[in-house]
Amino acid sequence: MELVANIGTPNDLEGVKNNGGEGVGLYRTEFLYMGRDELPTEEEQFESYKAVLEGLEGKPVVVRTLDIGGDKELPYLKLPKEMNPFLGFRAIRLCLEEKEIFRTQLRALLRASTYGNLKIMFPMIATLDEFRQAKAMLEEEKANLQSEGIAVSDKIEVGIMVEIPSTAVLADQFAKEVDFFSIGTNDLIQYTMAADRMNERVSYLYQPYNPSILRLVKMVIDAAHKEGKWTGMCGEMAGDETAIPLLLGLGLDEFSMSATSILKARSQIRYLNKTEMEKLAAEALQKSTTEEVIEMVTAATSKKQV
Ligand code: PEP
Ligand code: MG
Repeated sequence: MELVANIGTPNDLEGVKNNGGEGVGLYRTEFLYMGRDELPTEEEQFESYKAVLEGLEGKPVVVRTLDIGGDKELPYLKLPKEMNPFLGFRAIRLCLEEKEIFRTQLRALLRASTYGNLKIMFPMIATLDEFRQAKAMLEEEKANLQSEGIAVSDKIEVGIMVEIPSTAVLADQFAKEVDFFSIGTNDLIQYTMAADRMNERVSYLYQPYNPSILRLVKMVIDAAHKEGKWTGMCGEMAGDETAIPLLLGLGLDEFSMSATSILKARSQIRYLNKTEMEKLAAEALQKSTTEEVIEMVTAATSKKQV
């Protein structure tokens, strides 16, 4: 089980090292595209990816391809306003349509791949067809670079973020084709509960410990393990004190969180017994409400500390 960090820019690397991160579980590349007037060039992107890979000295770096839309706008793309931006033309949907933007990023990533331990993941995957299209474009760009004599690592794992319930439910099929899953609970909770994550009036529905969410997480982890693949989590839930015992019990392989949460999570995990957490998680899956789960976890973990 690995404790890794979420980062937004190469400047965040120092925090990862100072807090004992064993790698990067989510590099949110959209920050490269934001706060400017035009798209970043392939060269600019290559330099950023290379800096992160070199800085991590062979430790795993999971880079998420462009996840724009929803709460993250790029004014210079001049996309039409949408009624429901969180359900609209964003992330992988945009990349599969705006092919040159996507291919530029893929080329920059592939070129940087020889400088460290790169893993690539696609955001907001809803169907296997989307994953296959994105992977095919990655393979095409790899072949193009190689035919130009440019070296590309042959060890790049290619995975997806599980943020949409359709993908969690069909995880057994996805697991046959992806190298790994990373569960994005910030969005998975929003889409499962049909509650906008930016809308405070429905924030009571943002329930990480709801048994429905826990069951989806279990489905994803079990499906991956059945195919010999691994599952990480890079939503806020991965660093949450009440969730950690449950996630450990469910068999999560990689916890990715803000660097400042890593030390606390590590010391919490040190006192948790895997077999006991498996029992706790199994019980939680049979509960009916969030409140029941919280009560159960609090009772079990506070007993341990006495
Ligand atoms: C998520 O959805 O859980 C996630 C990590 O992605 P973001 O918060 O950037 O949407
Ligand atoms: Mg997300």
